[in-house]
Amino acid sequence: MKKSTKLKTKPNLQESRLRENFEMLSQIRDDTVNDIESLTEDFQHMTLVAESIRRNYRALLSENQLLKNTLLSIVEECECWQSNRCDRCQQILKIIASDNSEDKPDAARKYRSILSQLRNLG
Ligand SMILES: [Zn+2]
Repeated sequence: MKKSTKLKTKPNLQESRLRENFEMLSQIRDDTVNDIESLTEDFQHMTLVAESIRRNYRALLSENQLLKNTLLSIVEECECWQSNRCDRCQQILKIIASDNSEDKPDAARKYRSILSQLRNLG
């Protein structure tokens, strides 16, 4: 409307609308670029967190495996027979067998603590 002194008002109005649209689109593009950048940062952060969880979980698994192997070797080195295990070996075998089911409350607790750590980081 600044150039209302000119006779060709209609083309000017069109042009200013075009400019408005162009500015709006450019603003939207800038916002989108910013959103993508912050999303990228979030993903990078989550990747680091997931990598750390994977490492810890792998360490936990190998520790668990080591413990089981140690217990099994105790049974293997015992003087009792496979068909007639002594009380101690039966106890150990029972622990190994029920390891998965009895460990669940503990595993759930660990999972919960990992989740709360994740929330604190995020
Ligand atoms: Zn034994």
